[in-house]
Amino acid sequence: MWFTEEVGELSRALRENNKEEMKKEFADVLAWLFTLASLSGIKMEETIVKYTAGCPVCKEIPCICKEN
Ligand SMILES: [Zn+2]
Repeated sequence: MWFTEEVGELSRALRENNKEEMKKEFADVLAWLFTLASLSGIKMEETIVKYTAGCPVCKEIPCICKEN
């Protein structure tokens, strides 16, 4: 629940193009994401290996796949 609240706050900062709030909210979302993973017995450092070589589809960083 805290995680979705933080994502909501990040969405608002992005919508408002508020850089200071974005910095704070990106950090909060990341912290909660790692916490949720940890509580679920998942090590984030093992899961993000999926993206270390770029997008799994286009192989680019950042992804250049077109949104549908
Ligand atoms: Zn891509």
